[in-house]
Amino acid sequence: MPGQIAVENIRNAKGERVTLLIEAGRVAALGPPETLDIAQTAERVDGGGKMILPGLVDGHIHLDKTLIGLPFIPHIPGETVAKRIAAERELRRTVALPVTARGGALIEKIAALGTVAVRSHVDIDTEIGLKGLEQVLSLRESHGHLIDIEIVAFPQSGIMRDPGTADLLHEAVAHGADLVGGLDPAGIDNDIKGHLDAVFAVAEKHNVGVDLHLHDGGGLGAFELRQIAERTIAASLQGRVAVSHAFCLGELDDADLGRTAELLARAEVSIMTNGPGPVPMPPVKRLHAAGVRVFCGSDNIRDAWSPFGNGDLIERAGIICDRQDFRADDDLERAFALVTHASGAVLGRAEPLVPGAPADFMLVACGSIAETLADRPVARTVFKAGRKVAEAGRLV
Ligand SMILES: [Zn+2]
Repeated sequence: MPGQIAVENIRNAKGERVTLLIEAGRVAALGPPETLDIAQTAERVDGGGKMILPGLVDGHIHLDKTLIGLPFIPHIPGETVAKRIAAERELRRTVALPVTARGGALIEKIAALGTVAVRSHVDIDTEIGLKGLEQVLSLRESHGHLIDIEIVAFPQSGIMRDPGTADLLHEAVAHGADLVGGLDPAGIDNDIKGHLDAVFAVAEKHNVGVDLHLHDGGGLGAFELRQIAERTIAASLQGRVAVSHAFCLGELDDADLGRTAELLARAEVSIMTNGPGPVPMPPVKRLHAAGVRVFCGSDNIRDAWSPFGNGDLIERAGIICDRQDFRADDDLERAFALVTHASGAVLGRAEPLVPGAPADFMLVACGSIAETLADRPVARTVFKAGRKVAEAGRLV
């Protein structure tokens, strides 16, 4: 087979010695070397005895918001979501670098850490229009060799309180956004029905998925989650709707959590958590037990919302473990799956490291997934579509 690449001298997560065969940027086979048909002409790559892991998938990032690439900008406090939105819009008018430069710098940073695909929310409002979207679409072209980018048209300033935004969401999806977003139908727009009518109208008209930010807490947030699930079923969008944050799931009593999770599972609505700071978070094991898919992303990385974040999804999975009190190996593996298999599935990617899947993977000097989460090694060797893109945590 011309163009075959054989990555040899590697181990799988069980510690077994394996070889990975790559053809045309995709996995052709992964197994013990003696079971594989390695072509004479294959390009041979020595994996140095390291462990192969799937490439990391960031299920929630904001490429347009990041201030990476600029001198450090002190955080402007804002104690409510509405005040932070206003502060960000103020800051946005003065930022010296375009999204292509800041978002590009962030992509280069996370690609070196093993991230091979992201779902990026992109602000759409009546002031910025589609400008951010156009620049993230251009990043998808310029940085496609490093990362796959899925785009959510995100009404950060609300829909009902920023008239004209609903039309812009339609335009954004028509211009290349892959999904439509939303934000706190009650907390920001004070109109649950109006907000969800607008979001699902875009989804149904353009046949795209949905990913809403939901910070609204307690019983109100849970009511909104159930509304979203019911609308998902009504629109036949099962498996294509996600809710990001859903802090409320961490505040419910058993009965409320049970009926909400049951409906989310039936509607196949996925829940994204980034293991947030001092707020309640969705209980990962309880949701898994109810059949709800949970996935993970970085969310804000050095932007108007947070001066923190580095885009390292292995560290992020470790933060989930801290917040959920995960310590046993199988729990650490559960957290790792949130940034690989689960986030990949939400983004519509193939099961990783099986024949036909993109040859997007990394090699680390650890003996198991649990050790990888504990060690958080920086020296990762990263391959995208079968080609090495980073070595020892730096782009090559
Ligand atoms: Zn977000």
